[in-house]
Amino acid sequence: MAPIQVGQVFKSFEEFEEARKQYEMLNHMKWVTKSSSSISQENKIRAADGRPLMNPNLKHKNIKFICKFGGVARKKSKGLRTHLSTWKIECPAMLHLVAHTTDGLTVEALHETHAGHGLMEEETDVMPENRKLHPDDQSQLNALLDGKVKPSLIKPLLADMKSGAMNARDIANYRAKRQKENRGGRTEDEMLQDTLVDIQEADPSA
Ligand SMILES: [Zn+2]
Repeated sequence: MAPIQVGQVFKSFEEFEEARKQYEMLNHMKWVTKSSSSISQENKIRAADGRPLMNPNLKHKNIKFICKFGGVARKKSKGLRTHLSTWKIECPAMLHLVAHTTDGLTVEALHETHAGHGLMEEETDVMPENRKLHPDDQSQLNALLDGKVKPSLIKPLLADMKSGAMNARDIANYRAKRQKENRGGRTEDEMLQDTLVDIQEADPSA
């Protein structure tokens, strides 16, 4: 079953977010919020009117997403020429949810046709911003690399930290970049040691 379908009702925004992540992975794309209105604001009005409150876990009374790769949000221009503001590339892909009842967020519309851009490759499904080394982990990773720990052994350690999405290849790339920055050139011994690490990496039985 597709993770998101028109008419589907989510019992919380969190539940929807899980489905959204699945949808993005399956469809090699990413949704970004275009506009939204909050449940907390709606509940203030309801409280004032004496009407039943909505479940705050729904988070949004109304939320619209557009495709991240489909364009540039409208420019906010100040002054007299505002009317000239334009949409650049227009990808028609769109997802719209509305809380029709006090306890359900309904998929109102889902336009799945993309235009004006390609979709992500499989390997970029984990977005680059999530694969970067988190600053909090940097000194720890540097210490492990200085101790010549193999990237594949470092990977499970990072999983418990903030850089969990980095893979062994990312770590190896980071190590190479850092070596280059640190020394501008490695000594023969260091190069030999790194080569040995790489051989072990390629063939764990070595
Ligand atoms: Zn698109």
